[in-house]
Amino acid sequence: MRNFFNPLLDLIYPKRCPGCHLPSISICDSCKSFWQKPPIRIKLSQSNISVISVADYRKEVRSVLLAYKENGEREAGKVLTEALIKARLGFSNYSFCTFVPIPSNPKSVRRRGRDFMLDLCNKVANQSGDEVISILEVNRDVRDQTKLDEKQRSQNLVGAFDCTSKYLDLAAPVILVDDLLTTGASMREAQRALRQRGVIPIGAITAAHTALFWGREGG
Ligand SMILES: [Zn+2]
Repeated sequence: MRNFFNPLLDLIYPKRCPGCHLPSISICDSCKSFWQKPPIRIKLSQSNISVISVADYRKEVRSVLLAYKENGEREAGKVLTEALIKARLGFSNYSFCTFVPIPSNPKSVRRRGRDFMLDLCNKVANQSGDEVISILEVNRDVRDQTKLDEKQRSQNLVGAFDCTSKYLDLAAPVILVDDLLTTGASMREAQRALRQRGVIPIGAITAAHTALFWGREGG
């Protein structure tokens, strides 16, 4: 009988921590601690945008990001949603904002069968009371950013995002949203694409960040 119900139980109670993959009904305390730090504010170089982000990138954090991105794991989604809500509090002087997700490569969206950033933004907005408008799209074939260094990442993305023409009458302040901040190339490109249409984001939030290429503002 237990075997019969196992697939169902797996849906409700994942058996492994999405961070370290050790047996656990949810994210384990050790992996959870990486997401419980106060968010930091990062000032992107070559840009005036401030990014508020929660977790330092490390193996266990990467696993959670991948578990949601590639497999839509519910527990991982919960962790990322909570992290982004915490980051959103950094813009608490704005009671209602428009989240604009950083777009994924269309090839990746097709492969995954979903746009994970849009899904994640919707989860966050449901709880924070903000709105989500997906107005950025990747306009050409871009290489997988994970295999590129900082300079190549920037070059890979120059002019790669377009702002779609449908929703340019934005009443609420815009916050860019991404899962991970690495070199900031995606953020800068998103900012450029929006600025071309007269939209100036007030900032950005990410669930996690690597801290190699910029100075932190702290806080
Ligand atoms: Zn764990």
